[in-house]
Amino acid sequence: MNINYDKQLEQIRSRIGTERPQLLLHVCCAPCATACLLRLIDLFDVTLYYANDNITSPDEWTKRLGEVQKLVRIVNDGLFEMKPAVPVKLQTAELRPQRFFEAANGLEEEKEGGARCAKCFELRLADARDAALAQGFDYFCTTLTVSPYKNSQLLNEIGLSLQTDAIRWLPADFKKQNGYNESVRLSNKYGLYRQHYCGCPFSIPCDKNSTK
Ligand code: SF4
Repeated sequence: MNINYDKQLEQIRSRIGTERPQLLLHVCCAPCATACLLRLIDLFDVTLYYANDNITSPDEWTKRLGEVQKLVRIVNDGLFEMKPAVPVKLQTAELRPQRFFEAANGLEEEKEGGARCAKCFELRLADARDAALAQGFDYFCTTLTVSPYKNSQLLNEIGLSLQTDAIRWLPADFKKQNGYNESVRLSNKYGLYRQHYCGCPFSIPCDKNSTK
């Protein structure tokens, strides 16, 4: 039976008092981040964490990072639909494509959504967990659940498996509450580049509508 992780997020939100939790939010791309930020920046102090060894093309990796930087500027300049109580921060992990290729070894022919993607999720969420743990964040999470092409149940299961007593996974399913459509609307509104493939070389070419 599927677990309603969106409801779990709402329950956590309802318990937040005056102390704003520190959240390290793994960000796959700017379009996905838009809708997530609308659900978070009123209550959480958000640091975006761009750690995506799956985007093995340095040009594409840099292009998506540039769009995330642009979104952060939009938010912190007060031009976003919701103003953050404190500025959104951004951290970037070095691109190390070999780590992705090692994780995906033997799974190159898997369809999108299969075993290769599970390994890819584990790689990136573990990176986010490690960074969050090292810096004393309260929670870590990811924007990946916005996409209808990403298995939110699996992402949350992986996130929960990575949490420890010292760093908690923030359960979420950002595609709920019209999240994906909101991400499309906001990306168009702010002129953000929406890629037409997931990220790794094995996801090219794919359905033209298959954005992250
Ligand atoms: S299709 Fe996307 S989620 Fe799957 S392995 Fe490639 S980059 Fe990762």
